[in-house]
Amino acid sequence: MGDNETGRDDVWLSFHGVRGSTPCSCPELARFGGNTSCVSLHCGEHVPIVFDLGTGLRLWGADIVDEPELEIHALVSHMHWDHVQGLPFFLPLHKSDTKMHVYGPGHLDETMSAAFDRFMAPPFFPIHFTDLPSEIVFHHDDGTRFEIGDAVVRSAPVPHTGLTHGYRVTIAGITVVYIPDHQQPVDDSTRVDPKVLDLCAGADVLIHDAQFTADEFPDRSSWGHCTIDYAVEVAAQAGVRDLVLFHHDPSHSDDQLDRMREDIVDVAKSRGIESVITAGEGMKHIVSRSL
Ligand SMILES: [Zn+2]
Ligand SMILES: [Zn+2]
Repeated sequence: MGDNETGRDDVWLSFHGVRGSTPCSCPELARFGGNTSCVSLHCGEHVPIVFDLGTGLRLWGADIVDEPELEIHALVSHMHWDHVQGLPFFLPLHKSDTKMHVYGPGHLDETMSAAFDRFMAPPFFPIHFTDLPSEIVFHHDDGTRFEIGDAVVRSAPVPHTGLTHGYRVTIAGITVVYIPDHQQPVDDSTRVDPKVLDLCAGADVLIHDAQFTADEFPDRSSWGHCTIDYAVEVAAQAGVRDLVLFHHDPSHSDDQLDRMREDIVDVAKSRGIESVITAGEGMKHIVSRSL
């Protein structure tokens, strides 16, 4: 079996969008890509689970649109544009035999369904999601454990600007945690919310906000994000095996993303993290099992 092939019980992640804040396109960031947050999780024939609906969702949709009777389960962290903007452009939703379940925390006392109906409506978009021929079912995620087929899902609130959930999915003995947007404490870069630590504890893979360098953070300390060093801090404290750096700042070029990883990889390994990977658009990551 080649490096990129998967067996029946393998768990793998496909990264369709890895950028934070806004989609962006220029030659300097073409290698890691400019589409926003969207990662799908797969295990054999199990229904796919997708983290967030950023503009990367459009690319995935083009890949799978010809598959009949698609059933997709989407875990939405929060309602910021960079996490939902791909939904109207997801081609499978334009087919009547597609069913999509969307889970998320909503916004204040507004349900996810109502929030999506506000965002996907004229004059921002020509049609409502209810005009699409597919079936979209919204589920309010209140932080309790739930199951999607053989996958066990847990969520927890994550410090950010507005209500935001991180997700922990365990399937076939592999645990993946997704925390795309995470406000680090301004006064203590080693303090991690206990609920976040519990969510991440012992995960095989943590996909985590890596928006800023330490030099950039002081001027943007209230923007809801963290430094790459803080991503290492969270992973190390939680005993995570593999850290995936995610939600790259639109101003960071490919070369800068390479340097950012190089700057922290030795510290990460010295703190017990086995591998540090910079997420890139189109990347397929097979999650290996611990020996
Ligand atoms: Zn974001
Ligand atoms: Zn956000």
